[in-house]
Amino acid sequence: MVSDPQISVVIPVFNEEENLPELLTRMKGAMDGIGKPYEIIYVNDGSRDRSLEILKAASAADPSLKVIDFNRNYGQHAAVFAGFEAARGDVIVTLDADLQNPPEEIPKLVAKMEEGFDVVGTVRQQRKDSLFRKAASKLINKVTSWATGVQLSDYGCMLRAYRKEVVKTLCASKEISTFIPVLADLFAGRITEIPVAHAERSRGESKYSVWKLIRLQFDLITSFSLLPLRATMVVGFITAILAMAAALVLVAGRLIFGSDWAVSGLFTLFAALFFFMGILLFSIGLLGEYVGRIYMEVRRRPRFVIRHVILDGTERHP
Ligand code: UDP
Ligand code: MG
Repeated sequence: MVSDPQISVVIPVFNEEENLPELLTRMKGAMDGIGKPYEIIYVNDGSRDRSLEILKAASAADPSLKVIDFNRNYGQHAAVFAGFEAARGDVIVTLDADLQNPPEEIPKLVAKMEEGFDVVGTVRQQRKDSLFRKAASKLINKVTSWATGVQLSDYGCMLRAYRKEVVKTLCASKEISTFIPVLADLFAGRITEIPVAHAERSRGESKYSVWKLIRLQFDLITSFSLLPLRATMVVGFITAILAMAAALVLVAGRLIFGSDWAVSGLFTLFAALFFFMGILLFSIGLLGEYVGRIYMEVRRRPRFVIRHVILDGTERHP
């Protein structure tokens, strides 16, 4: 173990056996190049492949490596949190294990941190993802910055650096579902963003399906903003006024044209009814989402369970 690391790097790993060998060597090269004491924390998020074996073997040969092993898969953000809690450096860097964030960009982040920033984010240049994925991210970025009030140009990029104090505050925020980049920016004083290269995922496949992405996005908005609740209130208010106007027209029509007129408006009435029913159901669902969230929070369940911490190739108790 390195005595007093100045830089900690946290990397969540989920079934990345194909990327790990290259990642391990490139990380080592990049970090040695900075010339400051460092530690690299790999968090094995319940991988079902050989990831843990590879990491364990690597840690036997490298005292700057620390491996945290979860007992099952808890998700990328839980893994990063576990790494945060173990990190001892003044500057903490996060990146993905799939080599889409080049380790060679870390020195740039560290240099920027030395200018006194609390958080250094990154914006992916020439993003190497599918067109659909890029368009979706663009839309998501817009909606998210509007709803959460946190301006980030690239929410999806996990290659970021945080100061120790910010990470401590993050660890103290015991919310169940959190999106680290947004949460961090709420607590940071000086934030900046720098452009970084982005590579294609060369091996293995993305761990996020479209459905998982939609879930994550909905989670992100509802956990940082009450906007959806307020929006339904506004919609409810407007429809109530429209309904009142429609009722007036119906009554007036009946008085002027006689009772036949109102009966032929039966289908309009049906349409209006279903419209309101839709809004009602949607609102109940949305309310339920927030109530469910409160329920999850009050239980205060732990975010993850650590099976082992591996240092110098040997398993220790967490
Ligand atoms: N990851 C994780 N747990 C999960 C899903 C992903 O630790 O449940 C890790 C994964 O190993 C990678 C990072 O999170 O290091 C980002 O995952 P991925 O590259 O699949 O996401 P994408 O780049 O497609 O957004
Ligand atoms: Mg990726």
